[in-house]
Amino acid sequence: MVSRPAAFIDRDGTLTEEVGYVNHPKRLQLLPRSAEAIRHLNAAGIAAVVVTNQAGVARGYFSQDVLQATNAELVKQLKQAGASLDGLYVCPHHPTEGQPPFRAQCECRKPKPGLVLRAATELGLDLAASTVIGDRASDLVAAQAVGARGVLVLTGYGLGEWEYRRETFPVMPDHVAADLFDAVEWILAQRRA
Ligand SMILES: [Mg+2]
Ligand SMILES: [Zn+2]
Repeated sequence: MVSRPAAFIDRDGTLTEEVGYVNHPKRLQLLPRSAEAIRHLNAAGIAAVVVTNQAGVARGYFSQDVLQATNAELVKQLKQAGASLDGLYVCPHHPTEGQPPFRAQCECRKPKPGLVLRAATELGLDLAASTVIGDRASDLVAAQAVGARGVLVLTGYGLGEWEYRRETFPVMPDHVAADLFDAVEWILAQRRA
């Protein structure tokens, strides 16, 4: 199988509205241009893979069943808009909160790159040709760890992080985008360049 490029996309604040812990599927809301962004990735043959920290499971704020129902709602809403995800990877852990097995020093909670690495192995993705897109510095750290590009979006926590906290970033973004749609347009333009 020929490995293909991917866009690894954070969920909350990047693909969907940052509303705090999504403890009911009804709280999930796509950002305005997200479905269009995913459709563009689909059309370009770039894998669209969600990688998301959901420590609310470890903290006991919502169950794995609720998490699965919420992610199923995400897939459904995208599908209704003609957009499809190639994968969806979740870290349910937290290093210090809750009880085992979810209280764990895992390798998958961003900024660690475990989710991205697992996706790349399972889906046959070319990390050097890929991009991680997110609204936090932790997304950029994960990008650098796997040799991918990192794009910061200004949705979710992104605007405040970039305006007020960028000097604390351990890794700078390769690009800053208004939202996921602009991030995808940047990726597609880089390919053409
Ligand atoms: Mg986020
Ligand atoms: Zn984890």
